[in-house]
Amino acid sequence: MAIIDLYLSRLNHNLGVIRSKLQPKTKIIGVVKANAYGQGVVPIAQNLIEQGIDYLAVAYASEGIALRSAGIDCPIMVFYPQKETFAALLQHCLEPVLYSRQTWFAFMDCVERQRIPKYPVHIKFNTGLNRIGFSWEDREWLLEQLQHNKLQVESIYSHLAASEEVRPHIPTEKQGEYFQKIRSFFLPHYPNTVFHLLNTSGVFNYPEWQWDAVRIGIGLYGFANRKSWDQQLKPIARLHAPISQIHSVDKGAYVGYNQGWKASRPSQIATLPIGHADGIGREFGLGKGRVIIHGQLLPIIGNVCMDLVMVDVTDCNCAEGDSAIFFDADHTLNEWAEVGGTIPYELLTRLSPRITRVIHP
Ligand SMILES: *Cc1c(COP(=O)(O)O)cnc(C)c1O
Repeated sequence: MAIIDLYLSRLNHNLGVIRSKLQPKTKIIGVVKANAYGQGVVPIAQNLIEQGIDYLAVAYASEGIALRSAGIDCPIMVFYPQKETFAALLQHCLEPVLYSRQTWFAFMDCVERQRIPKYPVHIKFNTGLNRIGFSWEDREWLLEQLQHNKLQVESIYSHLAASEEVRPHIPTEKQGEYFQKIRSFFLPHYPNTVFHLLNTSGVFNYPEWQWDAVRIGIGLYGFANRKSWDQQLKPIARLHAPISQIHSVDKGAYVGYNQGWKASRPSQIATLPIGHADGIGREFGLGKGRVIIHGQLLPIIGNVCMDLVMVDVTDCNCAEGDSAIFFDADHTLNEWAEVGGTIPYELLTRLSPRITRVIHP
């Protein structure tokens, strides 16, 4: 079966690299949404807590509830909570991000019905990504709402649209200035509120904007969206699968669905137990994706199936049961991303829960 080896020592190394770029007082919010970027959320979250992470963050309430069910009791921020889940969120002591007047009213309503005093929430401002968040025009309204003292604002934050772009980058600078304006507006009223703007690449590119906290996702898992930054980090996951079967096919034989590959010579074809349902998408078929068997780079041939892929091993001395490596600590995932026309974020989060995770210290 396909296996993802997860090395916690590498995760701790990455956390150390991020910490080395921060002031001692800057808090780290560990982003573990989407199954900790496809890695396996429970062991990752437990390890982050052991390492003294200040906060965890997920995207949706269901992800926070899963963490609570696994016994994780640290503060958990929910980035994109939906109204229908507010009651469940309260029940599990999850802290919502409120990003619009509608979410504000709906959440207030829920809190008042349950008569909970001063429930912790986070406020998101849109400063240029134009995806989600309050705007500058909402500031006075928000201040007025806050003075009713029903909710406790733990943090106020925004999110950069292109934190990895080479500096100077005007749109990012504008976002930074915009956020400083927001901070200066709220700070005198709420001096204990945590202000934060940076994601992983932001920490590498704009350390001067770290303020009270940073939100680190992809960096924990070993990537930072630029080669020189990647080199400081270690991908925590290694994906590999043992060869299920090797076929000898004649010249002219076809391999896989819809005759995706035709043998131009007598060939040896290895089948691996991983497919598009596991996150190896069809864009990696037809010779594009490549795996490493005994140190040799070999092409995935034909069309990627749901549960299996085939590799041309004619030039490789290998046997059934031998291991094929998809990616490892050397950032090979960047090459997969390039071939697939995507980014490590997508490839990691697509890794299916049905792949076995093996945790290493
Ligand atoms: C996912 C997410 C992050 C983490 O970003 P990385 O680039 O993975 O470090 C930070 N903030 C918000 C709001 C997010 O949605």
